[in-house]
Amino acid sequence: MRQSKTFIPTLRETPSDADLKSHQLLLRAGYIRQNTSGVYSYLPLAKKMLTKIESIIREEMDAIGGSEVLMPSLQQAELWQETGRWYTYGPELMRLNDRHGREFALGPTHEEVITSLLRDEIKSYKKLPLTLYQIQTKFRDEKRPRFGLLRGREFIMKDAYSFHDTKESLDATYEDMKQAYTNIFTRLGLNFRAVIADSGAIGGKDTHEFMVLSEVGEDTIAYSDSSDFAANIEMAEVNVAYPEPEGEELTVEKVDTPDVKTIEDVAAFLDVRPEDCIKTLVFIVDDEPVVVLSRGDHEINDIKVKHALDASIVEMATPEQVKDATGTEIGSLGPVKLPTGLKVIADHAVRNMRNAVTGANEDGRHYRNVNPERDFSVDSYEDLRFIKEGDPSPDGNGTIRFAKGIEVGHIFKLGTTYSEPMEGNFLDNNGRQQPYIMGCYGIGVSRLMSAMAEQFNDDDGLKWPKDLAPADIHLIPVNMKDDDQRELAEEMYGLLSSYRYNVLFDDRPERPGVKFADADLIGLPIRLTVGKKAAEGIVEVKFRATGETAEWKKEELTDKLR
Ligand code: ATP
Ligand code: MG
Ligand code: MG
Ligand code: MG
Repeated sequence: MRQSKTFIPTLRETPSDADLKSHQLLLRAGYIRQNTSGVYSYLPLAKKMLTKIESIIREEMDAIGGSEVLMPSLQQAELWQETGRWYTYGPELMRLNDRHGREFALGPTHEEVITSLLRDEIKSYKKLPLTLYQIQTKFRDEKRPRFGLLRGREFIMKDAYSFHDTKESLDATYEDMKQAYTNIFTRLGLNFRAVIADSGAIGGKDTHEFMVLSEVGEDTIAYSDSSDFAANIEMAEVNVAYPEPEGEELTVEKVDTPDVKTIEDVAAFLDVRPEDCIKTLVFIVDDEPVVVLSRGDHEINDIKVKHALDASIVEMATPEQVKDATGTEIGSLGPVKLPTGLKVIADHAVRNMRNAVTGANEDGRHYRNVNPERDFSVDSYEDLRFIKEGDPSPDGNGTIRFAKGIEVGHIFKLGTTYSEPMEGNFLDNNGRQQPYIMGCYGIGVSRLMSAMAEQFNDDDGLKWPKDLAPADIHLIPVNMKDDDQRELAEEMYGLLSSYRYNVLFDDRPERPGVKFADADLIGLPIRLTVGKKAAEGIVEVKFRATGETAEWKKEELTDKLR
């Protein structure tokens, strides 16, 4: 690759709108450019690296029997209505209409699409298990897109889905995936840890996140200093501190459900669009289903719901319970699927309320500034959200420490969450119809590039590991006008290319200072400088990782590079 003919727009100045080192360097070294908030173009160097990252992922997915597919990004609303996620996914779902006014989403994930694909084709246990994966652009209208590729609104994900006839079969694939993920992140040279993702359940083994340990991570991991125990405690602050909700005044209403049969009824009642009813929760209160309605901003709502609960609320209602109690169908609500975080908060609040010793748990009273221990006992908590640094590890081994992590992968046993509402069924070996048992497994491919840039850099620029850099060697003639230098550099370029090295040849008529600064920014593992000793056939080698230099004769170059 000749630098004069490719596109590597380096920047001398640090862009003012980039806070993180990785974001600054990927911009300055000419890897990425932002189009609009959370939307990026990957320039030639980034594209090369993505291809390398993707090929490692493909190898490891294929090794455990995965088959690659490519599903559509454009997904009809009807699929999402079948699972109810059209209503519950919230504003992160990018929605659009076609020319006939039909509704669509740009896929943030593909459980609905793949379940609908398989339900028409896989009807016998004999065709199970099956693991399919894809590497594809995903769309999520993130509330706070930031940190470059770490949190985009359009980003690249590897997502895999597995289908099984038994729980044991799912367990086996889940373990394979866990190992494959470990292989992938190890091969990428990352300092990572697999952690329990559901902080509400000690020893939870049905979902794990893979976290790159990094100060800039948005998640907090509690881990034992002397065992494998590690868990994400992302909810801890919210639950422990019970912050006063900011912004708009809280409005929570408790209403009976008989007139509220469908999500459209709820929407009509509230005078909002159905998709804005995402915070409509159904609880059972004194054996009666109660819809807790709240509107507005997502984060404030989580807290609102907490306030709305009282001591007699015992559980989330399923549509069946609602039907049993009222004789009415809440069909379109589906099983009430909440974002996991919200359900956790709701469960948690229920328990808080039960244990409360203050008088705040009366109807209509808001429940604020609650402190664990002071306002209720925490004895009964088996969950991890109150875990503190220095506590004994819940597995009995060692002491808890905290670290920050970047979530680069997430594996999940879904069970029949999607296959049941979507009627993704197969016949088992007794001829009985059963819903598929499913797993899903994601990796943030573009996020990985930022996570790597965060880990592999120094004051001068990026500093990629040997096998992952966008090219192997940066070849730099100091002065392209010097005949000896230009000719030797051309000769080296031809020779190294014939040995299958991927060479970035800086044939630009730039000053040496500019070329070297760019080389440091770009971060290739080996720099070959053709300078004053070109006439003698000598080049200078510099290793980016160590800063070590040496002089090599052109004849010994290919031997020494081995
Ligand atoms: P986060 O907690 O960071 O919002 P998530 O839990 O919503 O991520 P998943 O639904 O588990 O994400 O998606 C699988 C993977 O996709 C994540 O582990 C992450 O690596 C990546 N990912 C998710 N959202 C983004 C995003 N906005 N930008 C880049 N990568 C993302
Ligand atoms: Mg997210
Ligand atoms: Mg997450
Ligand atoms: Mg996740």
